[in-house]
Amino acid sequence: MKYLVCLLLIAYSSFVLGAETGPIVFKTLLVIRSQTTIPPYGSFPGINKTMSPEDISRVSETYHHLAAQWVSSVTSEKVLWQTEIRISKVPLSPSGTCQADGYRVLPKDLDPDLSHISQKQYDSVFFYVDLRDAQNTSVGCFAGDTFPKNTFGPTGISIIYSDRFDEQYWRTQTFIHEWGHQLTAFYTQFGVPLPYCGKNIPPIHCAPYYNYQPDPNSPPGLKQWSQWLTDFYKGQISDPRRGYVGLGPRAWIHGTFLAPQ
Ligand SMILES: [Zn+2]
Repeated sequence: MKYLVCLLLIAYSSFVLGAETGPIVFKTLLVIRSQTTIPPYGSFPGINKTMSPEDISRVSETYHHLAAQWVSSVTSEKVLWQTEIRISKVPLSPSGTCQADGYRVLPKDLDPDLSHISQKQYDSVFFYVDLRDAQNTSVGCFAGDTFPKNTFGPTGISIIYSDRFDEQYWRTQTFIHEWGHQLTAFYTQFGVPLPYCGKNIPPIHCAPYYNYQPDPNSPPGLKQWSQWLTDFYKGQISDPRRGYVGLGPRAWIHGTFLAPQ
């Protein structure tokens, strides 16, 4: 009898521990906007291009393998990406601008694709947008962008621009950085202690304030901020007043955007 009780206890505790430590799975989607059409304006000759199959496979692989593997490995497989890719042929003409003839995608530019997605279908949707001209020079304002929380229900929306995407050492970083914006916007409501460096500065932009330096020895895809992003996702950034801050297990116990706990 004692033996049986012991066995039951072991089975029960491994069930409970398993429930506490099992992975959370984020349903993610990458929409590759393969056609870009920007009309000529002033001295700017405009852009009218279709992404090459090589470009499409490079973007797909970065998302599907490199970024998903990084997330899984940095979280010791406590956080996983379920990945899915769609190629959209709806011509993209970004309606946002910044100085020096730069363009940015606004939420309304994504309507043709978002209208095919229900608001509770994905935790995160990434859009890859090619804003390079005939000389391969980017006319995008940024390397990436993330829309404010609740732009599309609980689903986080980020844009990954072609800027820097030719440099293999940057590729993964843009996905990881932009997803970090989505994660912090969500987990902050649970009181997860995050880096702080000013009222209007997103936590993931605080690297210099915590004395992190660009890391020349970062692995492929994370050229500059490998150590910062690693500590950020692990929740191991040392804050002189608050101990360790960042995401990590204290964030993951609150589940995903579609299934908060
Ligand atoms: Zn950012």
